[in-house]
Formats: sequence, C-alpha cells, structure tokens
Amino acid sequence: MIPFNKPYLTGKETEYITKAVASGKISGNGIYTKKCQEFFEKTWGIKKTLLTTSCTDALEMAALLIDIKEGDEVIMPSYTFVSTANAFVLRGATIIFADSQENHPNIDADKIEKLITSKTKVIVPVHYSGIACDMDKIMELADRFNLFVVEDAAQAIDSYYKGRPLGSIGHLATFSFHETKNVISGEGGLLAINDEQFIDRAEIIWEKGTNRSAFFRGEIDKYGWVDIGSSFLPSEIVAAFLWAQLEHLEDIQKRRMYIWNKYYNALKVINKKGEVDLPCMPNYSTNNAHMFYLVCKNKQHRLALISLLKKENIMAVFHYLSLHKSQFYIDKHDGRELSYSDNYSDCLVRLPLYYELEEEELNKVIQLVKFYFLEC
Ligand SMILES: *Cc1c(COP(=O)(O)O)cnc(C)c1O
Repeated sequence: MIPFNKPYLTGKETEYITKAVASGKISGNGIYTKKCQEFFEKTWGIKKTLLTTSCTDALEMAALLIDIKEGDEVIMPSYTFVSTANAFVLRGATIIFADSQENHPNIDADKIEKLITSKTKVIVPVHYSGIACDMDKIMELADRFNLFVVEDAAQAIDSYYKGRPLGSIGHLATFSFHETKNVISGEGGLLAINDEQFIDRAEIIWEKGTNRSAFFRGEIDKYGWVDIGSSFLPSEIVAAFLWAQLEHLEDIQKRRMYIWNKYYNALKVINKKGEVDLPCMPNYSTNNAHMFYLVCKNKQHRLALISLLKKENIMAVFHYLSLHKSQFYIDKHDGRELSYSDNYSDCLVRLPLYYELEEEELNKVIQLVKFYFLEC
C-alpha cells in the first residue's frame, strides 16, 4: 500500500524526549521550547515566536490578541481548513469568505478590497501548499484600511515571498506541526509575532492569563492573573520531538523537493489535452514541497483517477470543501458565489508525498497518473 502520508521520524525524537523527561521539567516553556522558538526567530527573522499545542491554538491566540469582538469582520479564503475560520468565529466574528485565484487555490488578492467595510478588522491569507499569497497587495490593503494581517502559514514552513520568509510578513502568523505537515510533532503549532505591540500580551495569553513568563525571567517577584488567556503552550515532550525534526529541516526539505520535482517533471506531459492542471507556481513564491496536487477537469474525472489509483493500493485524496457552503456556515454566508473555491473543492486531488516514499513507489504513481490522463 502507498499511503497518502507517512509521518517521518529523524531518529532523534525519542532520545530528546528521554532527555526532557530525565531533566525533571516536562511542563512547557523549558529548554526544548526555547530551542524551537529560537530556531524560528533566527532562521526566518521573526521577532518573537511562541510554541503552541496546534496551529488552531495559534490562530485562536491571534484572534484574542487582535481583540476580535462580536460583529467584527474577517476576510479569508473559503478554500481553507476550518480552524482558520473557527478561531475568529469563537470570538464572535463574521467571516467574509473570498474566492480563490483562477489558477491557484490561494485567496485572490485583487478581490479583497471590495469586501472591506467599516467592520473589517483582519485579512487572513492562507499560503496553500506552501505557495505564497500575493503579500504586497494584501499588506498594502491592510495599511490603507488599517487592518491586521494574520498569515495562516500552517503549510508554509521554509517558503518565501519575494525573498521574505512566509510567516514573517503579516502582523501575526501561525504554523502547524501536525503529522501531515513537512515538520511535525504529532500535534503542534507556533505563533509568530512580527508586530512588537503584541509580544507582551501574547506571553500572558499563552500562560493562562498570567505574567508567569516575566516572573521566570526574573522581571517581577510574583506572578498572578492579569488578563484573559488559556493553556496554549505544549509540554517539553512535544517540544523535544519537534526539535529533533527542526534539526533535520534541510534534509527533510531536500527529500520532499526531490519528490515534488520528480512528479512535476514527469507529469508535465499530462495536461496536453487540457484535461488537468499542474500546480501553478507564481514567480513571487518559492516552493516548499508541502504538497503535490493536480486539478482535474471535473468531479467525475477526479473520482475516476482516485478509484484507479486505489485499485492499485495508492491513496490519493481530495482536500477542502468550500467553507461558505459548509453545514455550519451556509446560512451565515452572504450568498456570493465563489466559483473558483468550489472548483478546487470538486477537482483538486493530492498525490502521496512523504520522506520515505521510495523511488519505485513514486514511479508507480507517476506511471498510473500518466496512464489515466494519456490513455484513458
Ligand atoms: C493544518 C492546517 C491548520 C491546522 O493545523 P493544526 O496544527 O492541526 O491545528 C490550519 N490551517 C491550515 C491551512 C492547515 O493546513
């Protein structure tokens, strides 16, 4: 069987976990948490980062930091994971869903301005498959209309927009280390803070609404309840696992890029008949090989391809269902058609991509996909 994803272990995870356990401190904000945070801060020039138990939690922290209140409007793509929206809905926000680009699932930056009202507070670009949204346009709108930008960079570790690391551009950004991402800790995430005004309060919200972080640094002589907050920080056991992964980032990325490029180069021929599109790579973005997807001509083609692969024990899977049409939001949505988002919901399919995918297996997937599009 060739699964869609297989979590990769570098081999150091259990060693570091053992060390964390032996150190006698396994709650959060210890040595491994600091190592992981510093890695993000140094490697990608992010002012301050906080490890969280998931990207979902990091998004919830962002909504708290921006002080989202009942009736505030948040603009984001409909083609995204539920957590992108849920984090803001939990604070009472109304989500204004925007359509994807014609040639990419990312939010169409040219369609955002007409969605901005006096209630708009935030734009949430989601860097789908690690490919950058058009951040210059989005940051310009944020500047002009006095809005915040929260990058959902869950899939976007080690990817760049015009040379700038994704997650370092918006006022806030969030990453995920869920086992399906490039770098993993089972469940895990990180909040990136690029706007300094949020740093002090973020630490408080992270530590259950207390100023314990400042206390640990010796800045105050006792700590207490100073704001709202929750338990957003992971234990040192999770951080130790993540550290083993971050140490091997280069190796992980190299292997994933190899697989991605092999797919791309081998499958370039299949769109000859105009029945399928390969991922579009805007020249302002790098690729971090988070995902290799195809966009079929219609739902039937996608189903037929998935079935053909499944018969050969290869798991290819589709992805998001437009959130504006979800059971939870359809009645709250303003009724606008978002046809590109719907098209990706119907037609996008992801091929297996993981570190340990073997050459022979990769060739088998490529051969079958080519067979489907060129000979069926
Ligand atoms: C994976 C993902 C999330 C959620 O991440 P968790 O760490 O599982 O909470 C949010 N947004 C996007 C775009 C994702 O891909």
